[in-house]
Amino acid sequence: MISSTAPTCAMCDRPIAYRGAGRRPKYCTKSCRQAVYRANGKAREKAAKAVMTRRMLGELAHQLRGNIAELTTMISSLQHADRKDTLPTGWETAATVLADQLAEMARSAALLTREHVRLADEHRQSIEIVQKANGHDGSAEESSDIAVEYIQRQQGRQQPPV
Ligand SMILES: [Zn+2]
Repeated sequence: MISSTAPTCAMCDRPIAYRGAGRRPKYCTKSCRQAVYRANGKAREKAAKAVMTRRMLGELAHQLRGNIAELTTMISSLQHADRKDTLPTGWETAATVLADQLAEMARSAALLTREHVRLADEHRQSIEIVQKANGHDGSAEESSDIAVEYIQRQQGRQQPPV
């Protein structure tokens, strides 16, 4: 019989059979302990990958700004030109290549953003499991400092990276 003060599992909240001898168990089964351990590893992995996708988006934004500025200059020189032959030879090809590059970069940015959102979501799901287990009895033996720090940075961020 389990009393009302019986310890509960930090993972699944089921009461743990505890006879009062030795260290109080934190998890009901080995599989619950492993589930939290795996969630912690997954949270770290997803956080590290999300940092990478954010960095890649930042680099892409930098390149996009450069190419957009170049294309804008090219097009505005068209508008201001009295005659077409004041433009450098081959500008049509250059503008087409640049516009194609921009379209490709925009597609990459869309893919990277979706990937980043997916990673952040998977990270959040994992970190919730870890934080619940850590907060269960105040102990934090399954430390996830990197992941926690990452999500705190995300929460404190007002502006998107791009
Ligand atoms: Zn359990």
